[in-house]
Amino acid sequence: MNITPAPSDLAFVPFVSVDDMMKIINKIGPAKAIADIADYIESDFRRWESFDKTPRVAAHSPEGVIELMPTSDGETYGFKYVNGHPANMARGFQTVTAFGVLSNVSNGYPVLLTEMTVLTALRTAATSVVAARHLAPKGAKTMAMIGNGAQCEFQALAFQKVLGIENVRLYDIDSTATDKAAKNLSSSGLNITKCADPHQAIAGAEIITTCTADKQYATILTDNMVGAGVHINAIGGDCPGKTELHRDILSRSDIFVEYPPQTRIEGEIQQLAEDHPVTELWQVITGTADGRTSKNQVTLFDSVGFAIEDFSALRYIHDRLEDIDHYQELDMIADPDDPRDLFGMLARASKAA
Ligand code: NAD
Repeated sequence: MNITPAPSDLAFVPFVSVDDMMKIINKIGPAKAIADIADYIESDFRRWESFDKTPRVAAHSPEGVIELMPTSDGETYGFKYVNGHPANMARGFQTVTAFGVLSNVSNGYPVLLTEMTVLTALRTAATSVVAARHLAPKGAKTMAMIGNGAQCEFQALAFQKVLGIENVRLYDIDSTATDKAAKNLSSSGLNITKCADPHQAIAGAEIITTCTADKQYATILTDNMVGAGVHINAIGGDCPGKTELHRDILSRSDIFVEYPPQTRIEGEIQQLAEDHPVTELWQVITGTADGRTSKNQVTLFDSVGFAIEDFSALRYIHDRLEDIDHYQELDMIADPDDPRDLFGMLARASKAA
């Protein structure tokens, strides 16, 4: 990794707008970008112990949450600003919007400012497939996708590209969301089935992804819906008081999480006792803990989204800027000729104006 800019490059910060992000991702191809980010995440999870880790700092309101997600590996610091407002969609706003910063630890200067709404969808799909690579039944071909909102197509493409999924069974309480996802995925090569209810969606699925948005203890899946050997990729429950799975499913699943101190507050496991055993995904990746060990095991990735995944995605975009010229130069670092003469710089600017 080489993200340390030369001092002469520090007069501006590369800024990747939503428009630039779309150009970058369309040039690479969304599925390839997700697969690449999955590799960045996996490589950062392999060096998990070298990161500063803290549960994200959350400001809750009745409408949703605004969160800051920081981490550092000692050389590079990153953070994401992200919101989660389940009622936004009905008001014509995104449920999740985000931006992020990557900085050089040695002098504290930012080296990247970027939109992260699109990037979060990519990194969430990437994290899902990193987990599924280790936990899903081998040779799985069919995934149920419950919740067909903003994240949905990214998840479907990720599972097709990285896991070899061929069939995606869509369900959403709002059939217009399902129609939108089916249309967007129509040229993907996936066999898409629009389902009338969640029972129909999970029929024959070896992987079940739940990605719904509701700020409450919802029950998207009940225990009798989950057959032996299934892998559940539960994404939507990512806030205190916001879950998707019935508690009984958790009791008979082997549960894998990103960072337990955060997941115990925000994940499906907020429904369980504080000492309920869970396995950290990074330990499965490094081989210090088991992933799937039997055909009949129900594996559950209780995903809430963790700062290191955003750090990996930021790193990925920063690395791309060397070859893809889609960014603006942002004048966001004051650079007086004499670092102590900040006031003189201001005074000279006033005279020049
Ligand atoms: P979105 O609002 O665009 O889509 C959510 C969809 O869920 C909507 O289409 C809605 O109709 C549907 N839905 C709500 N209740 C349902 C139910 N009972 N059954 C079926 N469908 C239902 O939201 P999004 O951006 O796709 O995000 C989905 C969820 O994932 C949110 O809760 C968000 O906070 C979460 N999320 C998690 C991560 C992570 O890292 N774990 C990352 C991004 C988003």
